[in-house]
Amino acid sequence: MKIISSPLELKNYLRETSKAMSTQNDFSIGFVPTMGALHGGHISLIKKAKEQNKLVVVSIFLNPTQFLKGEDLDKYPKKDEADKKICELSGVDILFFPQAEDIYGIDEVSILAPKVRGYVLEGQSRPGHFNGVLTVVMKLLNIVNPTRAYFGKKDAQQLNLISLMVKQLFMSVEIVPVDTVREKDGLALSSRNAYLIPKEREEALKISSSLRKASAMVSKGELNAKEIITSMIEILEPLEIHYVEIVSRDFNQLLHVELGNSVILVEASVGGTRLLDNIWL
Ligand code: AMP
Repeated sequence: MKIISSPLELKNYLRETSKAMSTQNDFSIGFVPTMGALHGGHISLIKKAKEQNKLVVVSIFLNPTQFLKGEDLDKYPKKDEADKKICELSGVDILFFPQAEDIYGIDEVSILAPKVRGYVLEGQSRPGHFNGVLTVVMKLLNIVNPTRAYFGKKDAQQLNLISLMVKQLFMSVEIVPVDTVREKDGLALSSRNAYLIPKEREEALKISSSLRKASAMVSKGELNAKEIITSMIEILEPLEIHYVEIVSRDFNQLLHVELGNSVILVEASVGGTRLLDNIWL
């Protein structure tokens, strides 16, 4: 596995490699952007990228611009050595490990999230967060120029906005969504789970339980969003709920579940740790 920290070095290396491989008409680059503290969710994105591409690039970059003032940028878990091992064992070809000064300049050019879709749900709890996400993803995609880029369905709104950016800015990368990986007891894997003490981890299970309850209600024929959300809130109540919402695949609020076109989203804090989860129906 090659480790590169300079964006220009990576760009040149990939350009040369693509040129050398151009006789192979199925040469492709799969890209998995992450913020590190890798877990089974990240590994599943890497696995999918390995299956579908000749060369896999993973980036580890704790992107400062997507954190709001007072958020957990300074205490976000950092596991550089373990992350390198995980990437090596997962068969990653290139690990891109830039520093903030490699990615950002002064008087920054940035991408703005759309006025509505970027400022509802998580964008409402964290105004401006998606500007940082879209800006860094645009930069990383321009450095790597991948055939395909892999994003978790767990961050459904992020996935939606990145897909929208790629479509609206006529970019040629294919965005591949990957299913959420969970612990055996249902808790969605997240780097922020490391903040939870055992009692909080137990409480956090209410989030996946509420989604299982919603799914069971839908299976029994209940499609009314209000009914479903009320039952979910009963389960979630002891937590600090930021939102429980049912939206279409393109993130319009739904009054009734549309099978094949709905996502049920939850964001709640447990002991100050913000947790996201969702199910796609
Ligand atoms: P992060 O390092 O948190 O920025 O996440 C990097 C990528 O991994 C994003 O595309 C996330 O949506 C994805 N991801 C995070 N947690 C999971 C999970 N439990 N299952 C699948 N993908 C995930």
